[in-house]
Amino acid sequence: MGNLIDGKAIAADIRRQIHDRIQRRLAEGKRPPGLAVILVGEDPASQVYVKAKRRACEEVGIASFAHDLSADTPEAALLDLIDTLNEDDDVDGVLVQLPLPRHIDPETVIERIHPDKDVDGFHPYNMGRLAVRLPRLRPCTPFGVMKLLEAIGFDPKGKDAVVVGASNIVGRPMALELLLAGATVTVCHRFTRDLAEQVRRAELVVAAAGKPGLVRGEWIRPGAVVVDVGINRLPDGRLAGDVEFDTARERAAWITPVPGGVGPMTVAMLLHNTLYAAEHLHGA
Ligand code: NAD
Repeated sequence: MGNLIDGKAIAADIRRQIHDRIQRRLAEGKRPPGLAVILVGEDPASQVYVKAKRRACEEVGIASFAHDLSADTPEAALLDLIDTLNEDDDVDGVLVQLPLPRHIDPETVIERIHPDKDVDGFHPYNMGRLAVRLPRLRPCTPFGVMKLLEAIGFDPKGKDAVVVGASNIVGRPMALELLLAGATVTVCHRFTRDLAEQVRRAELVVAAAGKPGLVRGEWIRPGAVVVDVGINRLPDGRLAGDVEFDTARERAAWITPVPGGVGPMTVAMLLHNTLYAAEHLHGA
């Protein structure tokens, strides 16, 4: 039976360190780091995520600026708001919760955020920095996965890593993080011919496809580390990852649960990025 990677506890530890650092800064008379979180529309899952991010900010002492816009907000009005926040000296990070309503182009919105306030790390500038081995603001979920690996003492250098999923927000930056850490990285996606064959030889599997049970337990190489980024709502209301958890755990050395694995790390790294932007990019 593989060990569980306790993302909840590891994220709580990171949040505690951020809290203590901010308290020290406040005691020195410095302003709190600030994060503006923009929500457009009323998507229920997005409302839950935004609420969690705002609460996490308050807990560590980051000033959170809420901007809740109606679903019919014109793209131009959203871009104007981003321009204003880009200029606001109390704001270190600007986050626009995705997905956006269909009439708004997410790429236009992401590229409008100043790269030094792009605490999600989705701007092409920050993705490019990661690609050329000069990471600045790093995409939160893959960054969080790297922290989980560090916490269990797994060094990716020289390891065979397989990333399942190639999206801009998870799979691609995950592959870049692992490459930066010295792994031999294979990226699988919907056109991959034999996913089982790829997963079978992986010493590290990171699953981020959004397909419950896609990665079968019997594919896991004995002793592998399995990180499940997927969050899928099953018909009975339960949450499940992309990996068949019970059978995978029988073969893995380490495995993340869903929930309680990668999810809490994403929020912790958002807080980390906001503090990083304040201290290193805005001289606060
Ligand atoms: P996405 O739909 O944008 O991308 C999915 C990727 O998986 C694509 O590259 C696609 O080619 C690949 N894929 C789909 N079917 C496949 C198959 N049969 N075989 C191999 N590859 C396949 O999704 P996303 O935004 O990257 O999110 C992926 C999952 O991660 C979702 O479940 C999402 O909810 C979850 N997620 C979790 C967190 C977190 O904090 N834990 C953060 C972001 C996303």
